[in-house]
Amino acid sequence: MNSRNRQKNYWLTRRSAPVAGNGQLRRKDIPAGETLCFYCPAKCCHYIALTIDRPRTWEEFDTVRWFLLHERTAVFVDNGQWYLLVFLTCTKLQPDGRCGIYPLRPKICRDYDTDICEFEENAVYDQFFELPEQLEEYAEALLGPREGGSLRSPRPELLPVLS
Ligand code: SF4
Ligand code: SF4
Repeated sequence: MNSRNRQKNYWLTRRSAPVAGNGQLRRKDIPAGETLCFYCPAKCCHYIALTIDRPRTWEEFDTVRWFLLHERTAVFVDNGQWYLLVFLTCTKLQPDGRCGIYPLRPKICRDYDTDICEFEENAVYDQFFELPEQLEEYAEALLGPREGGSLRSPRPELLPVLS
């Protein structure tokens, strides 16, 4: 989110940038003095993350499961803190990847630091849940079977062995 208004179009810049073996740019590949955001498709402008209470009971897990039943949601745990992630694009993001309200952008955007941002896509979380079934499985391992039966899909029958 830093200095994007002063930059040129990401898609033009990215084409001329050095690329790692896996096709991804790394921080160290960016020329000295250049801004990282110049080489990024504004990843941090495509989601919101809200802290949520850590679920401890089946009822609380059920609320988190409700989040995950919605489109474009995920839940992750980072340093013990639980977060609801919603994949949404900021309405002020311009087609060329620049911020449309750069001088007036919210404090959370100003404070976001390129030193710790997701530029390199190598983030690792304590836990990451994309599907309600994943959360259900985690809760079951933690709390034991849910009263009234599991909501997980029944184990499929084994395929026949062909000789
Ligand atoms: S993810 Fe990092 S590099 Fe990309 S726009 Fe946000 S702050 Fe800049
Ligand atoms: S206000 Fe600007 S910097 Fe903040 S998320 Fe929206 S486009 Fe990105």
